[in-house]
Amino acid sequence: MQFRLDGSRVVFEAHDRVQAWFSTRRGGVSFPPFDTLNLSYGVGDLRPAVTENRRRMLASAGRLLEELVMPHQVHENHVAWVDAAMAGRGAQGANPIPATDGFLTESPELVLGLGYADCVPIFVTDLDARAVGLLHAGWRGTVAEIQRRGVEMLQQRGIEPQNLLVGLGPAIGACCYEVDLPVKAAVEKLVGMEPLTAVDDTHWRLDLHLANRRVLERAGVRPEHIVEAPYCTGCRRDLFFSYRVERRMTGRMGGYICLER
Ligand SMILES: [Zn+2]
Repeated sequence: MQFRLDGSRVVFEAHDRVQAWFSTRRGGVSFPPFDTLNLSYGVGDLRPAVTENRRRMLASAGRLLEELVMPHQVHENHVAWVDAAMAGRGAQGANPIPATDGFLTESPELVLGLGYADCVPIFVTDLDARAVGLLHAGWRGTVAEIQRRGVEMLQQRGIEPQNLLVGLGPAIGACCYEVDLPVKAAVEKLVGMEPLTAVDDTHWRLDLHLANRRVLERAGVRPEHIVEAPYCTGCRRDLFFSYRVERRMTGRMGGYICLER
């Protein structure tokens, strides 16, 4: 189980019947400042360019845009089960699954997709590849324990936490992510000070990967079944867009996961 850079994407290799991947900024058709693989319709990029970029991301795994499902993300902790009837929703912007930051499916007919700007993409499957899941965890989703909800919903379908395989994808690292007191207090309440490092009296560096790892472990996921992508989206601006570090109009990445048909 590992993350591996493969052309224009970072692939999460977890199971031979699962495809999971995260986009880089390479290999798309958008012009600056969205160069080149911007996957969001909401940042001011040209619509046909975004559609082509999304199509390429799906094609990189041999899948079609019509199989993609995407929600409207709101930095909360709602997780939804989705099925083949929802294929295509949100794929070109229209009719997304409402107010959802994570979803799960047992259907090989669907590709789950979420948009990311520095937040942690959490890819989930299990030893038998019965289901796949994809979550969006910025600091808000992390402290609202979206990762625990995902684990619990899988458990309700009979997929035990100790059988889960989890990948924490490219996100802003502690090197580039400074937070203030309200965020520090919320994270400390969740998992203690371990992912926090003081910068001065009012600012801390936050390791979101570590905070998510600790909650997942507490929910029953085996430590050795959680792997972290070795990339900071803030440091690696050659590879990724960074909303926080670039502090200007920029593109958005996408995470995708599906069961093999
Ligand atoms: Zn960094």
